[in-house]
Amino acid sequence: MDLATTNLIDFDVAGLNQLMSELGESSYRTTQLIKWIHQLGIVNFDEMTNLSKVFRQRLAVETEIRFPEIVSHQESADGTIKWLVRVDSGNCVETVFIPENDRGTLCVSSQIGCPLDCRFCATATQGFNRNLNIGEIIGQVWLAARHLGQTPKRVRRITNVVMMGMGEPLLNFDNVVGAMRLMMDDNAYNLARKRVTLSTAGHVPGIDKLRQTCPVSLAVSLHAPNDTLRDVLVPINRKHPLESLMDACRRYADANPQDQITFEYVMLKGVNDAPSLAKDLVRLLHRIPAKVNLIPFNAFDGTEYECSSRDDIDNFRNQLVRSGIVTITRKTRGDDIDAACGQLVGKVQAKSARRRAQTDLEKTL
Ligand code: SAH
Repeated sequence: MDLATTNLIDFDVAGLNQLMSELGESSYRTTQLIKWIHQLGIVNFDEMTNLSKVFRQRLAVETEIRFPEIVSHQESADGTIKWLVRVDSGNCVETVFIPENDRGTLCVSSQIGCPLDCRFCATATQGFNRNLNIGEIIGQVWLAARHLGQTPKRVRRITNVVMMGMGEPLLNFDNVVGAMRLMMDDNAYNLARKRVTLSTAGHVPGIDKLRQTCPVSLAVSLHAPNDTLRDVLVPINRKHPLESLMDACRRYADANPQDQITFEYVMLKGVNDAPSLAKDLVRLLHRIPAKVNLIPFNAFDGTEYECSSRDDIDNFRNQLVRSGIVTITRKTRGDDIDAACGQLVGKVQAKSARRRAQTDLEKTL
């Protein structure tokens, strides 16, 4: 392996173990390095005092620790923070921190842009550039942890991570799982499995693979209770219709009987908010341990949609609650800085790559 440009943050635990063995070192070095880098935030090999001087010098020559760079940060009136993170010379993704009384949730991006074409999502309008690698995903957590730790007034902590930023995480499976494993690693960010949530637009093979390899909390962007409507709003539904999606959700729930699956439902005025659709939704979720998050639609430039009225959202919610489904209406956070659900756009180059990316995607779906 050419180690000249080996960036140590691009490896998960298994990858670092392999690298250590190639360097003739024991896997204990992996633990030490992960602690220094992710738990303590140290990127200078000289400061890693429990590694021998010779090994430190070798690491400094043959490898590097290089995180993405924060280009800008904005703080909302409600305390939500959005960072624009440069991942390469032409592209930036967005990461959002949402503080609440008893927790701090970091919303992490998995791709530059997104190849799916959900009709109500700002990220979709900018097309797709590429998948983020492990370092670019875990780097968002590292940067946010450092930034929050340095806040003088109050120390805000990341207690939860949601893979709900830009991109479809299950279409970047290996890198997302590698990064999530670091989030859960005792020596790195030490988050419990239930505190890491992956949200998918409904990539059925990916849901099954996640169940088998890394069963974190699952959220599914449902948005419609029938195929006719979902085909329009969430076009991946044409490939993986509701019946197969619900089967995959049941398999996921059966394998993790303690957990509930979160179903996200964006409230679009006159499109998916009718009482009859609430009734269909209840029927669809029958026999799945489900909770529903209603998301008031967040508008962006050029969108054809509007958010449902407060009354319609409340009625929809009450119908679900009356049928025994735990339902919350998600509070809109950070919309004054365009940091709310579906508003992330980053800075994505090569919009023209979208058609090509979509063709590639069709092949992989
Ligand atoms: N691709 C994944 C991860 C994105 S998560 C997924 O689809 O689940 C972002 C969540 O915000 C999803 O539930 C998405 O459907 C929702 N969303 C997208 N655009 C939105 C908007 N304009 N207003 C409110 N929610 C939106």
